[in-house]
Amino acid sequence: MKNRFPILIADDDPIGRKLLENTLVKSGHKVVAAEDGLKALNLFSDEFFPIVLTDWMMPGMNGLDLCRALRKKQLPGYVFIILLTARDSKDDIIAGLEAGADDYLSKPFLHAELIARINTGIRILELEKSLHRANEKIKRMSVTDSLTGCYNKWYLNKHLPVEISRSKRYNRALSVIMCDIDHFKKVNDTFGHLAGDEVLKNFSSCLMQSVRKKIDWVVRYGGEEFLFVLPETEKAGAYELAERIRRKVARQKTIINDVSICITASFGISCYLPLTGDMIITTDEIIKHADKLLYKSKQDGRNRTTMEPDQH
Ligand code: GH3
Ligand code: MG
Ligand code: MG
Repeated sequence: MKNRFPILIADDDPIGRKLLENTLVKSGHKVVAAEDGLKALNLFSDEFFPIVLTDWMMPGMNGLDLCRALRKKQLPGYVFIILLTARDSKDDIIAGLEAGADDYLSKPFLHAELIARINTGIRILELEKSLHRANEKIKRMSVTDSLTGCYNKWYLNKHLPVEISRSKRYNRALSVIMCDIDHFKKVNDTFGHLAGDEVLKNFSSCLMQSVRKKIDWVVRYGGEEFLFVLPETEKAGAYELAERIRRKVARQKTIINDVSICITASFGISCYLPLTGDMIITTDEIIKHADKLLYKSKQDGRNRTTMEPDQH
């Protein structure tokens, strides 16, 4: 448990530093030692240390300056700082805490006390970690749909305009595919709503697995209607992807209580090419266009992909 939080020691006294290092290593901690404040601070460029034990008096950057510098720095998590000092007047303690230390220990100190104070820090860091995890979960939940795990409309409305302006700025194509399961009402009517949910989950995993990670994204636009946003993708690439997914969906089966459920889906592709001076520039327009072409796929018999023909 404790080993998850590496400790950085900053102390200019080589004997004291070595003693401290040995004690902590014996207690199961991963320890890195530096001989002054600046060296300790620089070590943060390569590694993050959630616990820092720092001497007050050091040449160059002293312990208080190190505290201040660490508090100013953008770091991936909280740093619990314990100031080790021979100075223990009330004024010194106040100065240390005001500089950003969380705790202090007056030299000479009992090692048992040092370990106990480090454990206090670990409790706080564990708490911070669980709060961070909870926050990440809330953040993820606020932008995704709970049934399918796809992004929601809130995310779409926030991020599609960003993709459009990026595409404009770098003169790169941006494609949007709208797709909708064919006759999905019949799936619910025949097999029940819960079976319909399973089919939806399988369908959406197939969509998400088929796109480029961290580049493309999939939104649950409506009940059984999904939208792909494909940056730097021209019409031909989007068509190829839609067709690949369409064929995969048609092959896929959802088996519930030994009954195998098959579906198909229809697709509509809208592509924005900044260089050709396309008129599709707003989120609404690009989506409406894809929706119109999806509607055409439905009218033409479903289980197909439609895109605007090339203009010559
Ligand atoms: P089309 O080929 O024209 O798209 O026909 P369709 O039956 O798929 O379209 P329609 O819009 O008539 O019906 C959509 C159905 O999707 C109706 C609705 O109950 C169902 N649906 C929407 N969201 C969910 C969901 O979360 N779970 C389940 N099981 N069904 C859903
Ligand atoms: Mg449908
Ligand atoms: Mg629909």
